[in-house]
Parts: sequence; C-alpha cells; structure tokens
Amino acid sequence: MIYMLEDEAGIRNFVLYALNNSGFDAMGFELPSQLREAMEVRLPDLLLLDIMLPEEDGISVLKKLRSSRRTKNLPIILLTAKGTEFDKVAGLDSGADDYIAKPFGTMELISRIKALLRRTSAEAAADITCDGIAVDTEKRRVTANGSDVNLTRKEYELLLTLIRGKGKVFTRDELLHNVWEFDYSGESRTVDVHIRTLRAKLGSCGDIIETIRGVGYKVGTKHD
Ligand code: CA
Repeated sequence: MIYMLEDEAGIRNFVLYALNNSGFDAMGFELPSQLREAMEVRLPDLLLLDIMLPEEDGISVLKKLRSSRRTKNLPIILLTAKGTEFDKVAGLDSGADDYIAKPFGTMELISRIKALLRRTSAEAAADITCDGIAVDTEKRRVTANGSDVNLTRKEYELLLTLIRGKGKVFTRDELLHNVWEFDYSGESRTVDVHIRTLRAKLGSCGDIIETIRGVGYKVGTKHD
C-alpha cells in the first residue's frame, strides 16, 4: 500500500491512477490530519509526500514521522517544486529517502518507488558485521565494539554502502549517487562532511573507513 499526501487534487488523482495501473494499491490524502488518521489504522509500505500543504508543511510532517518509533524507517519520497525548494530539500539531511521534482513523469516516479521498495526490502534482509561494527539492518541499529552508535539516516546509508562494498574504492560521486540518489550537481564536500562525522561517531572503529587520496573512500579488509 502506498499513501500519497498531496493537496492538489489533479496531481493526486493522476498519480493514484498511474499507481493503480502499475499494480500498486494506493490511497491519497489532501490534509496532514487525514494522513495521520489513516496511519493510525494502517502504515503504508511507502509514502509520497508533498511539501506545500495546508495545515502543516511536508518537512514538518516528515520530521514528526521520523521522530516516532513506529514510522522512523518508513520509506518516504518527497515531491518538491523545481528550483530553490528542491535545492533546499536536497541539500539538507531532511530524512527523506528520495526526492522528485515537480513536474515529474509517472514512469520516473514509479521507477523511483520500485527502487526504494527494493532497497528497503533488501536492507531488511540481513545483519552485517565488519571489524567491530555490527549493523542490524532491520532495526537500523549500529554498534561499534558493542556500544550503540547514533547515526543520521545519511550517515547510516553511507556506512552501509561502504561496508556492503567492502574492498571497493567509492568515488565521492558514486557515494552521492548511491546515498543521496538524485542528480546532485557536484557538492562532493557533502560526502567529506558526512564521512568525518561518521568516523567520529564510530570512535576507535572509525578507522575502518580509509581515505583514498584523490579518489574517495573505502572500507578496507586489513583485519581479515
Ligand atoms: Ca501542494
């Protein structure tokens, strides 16, 4: 089941129609309060979330969902207007799994939905350990030498990408593409900043992330 929170009936109906035609069950809501009521009864597998809404903006809805234990891992795609709003959302670690700029084609939207659903079900599949670091992908819980590590969503995804690709050197662009998953024009410093905080949070385990000068980063195999 996919929920969509979008106040413009035209867009809402158009997307719901396309989703139904692609074999998805989908329900649309005009107001944040209506979405909240529906969520209490049943959580969707994925949420499409508009930003400019009556009652409350989408970013605030998103933050509330992320701060609740029940919905903190809910897959969410933000629907943003092109231009400054998109840039602002894309540049922040807003907690969304993906972003798509309006106007979008239904083919693109559906392929993004499928990719996100694939990713979340693959993530739910396995526990991963690496040199003192353990990742419980179902609970999105990370421990370093047995202590809990509190990571932001992007730091978590960055760590998971590096560990899953153990031994491979990732360029900053590859990490941007894998973790931020949209056409991010060139802010590779974003990766460096996240790597720095990630290493710091991992404490003595932080040195599993190696800097490959002039290229990018990798999680090495030195202790194997
Ligand atoms: Ca709107």
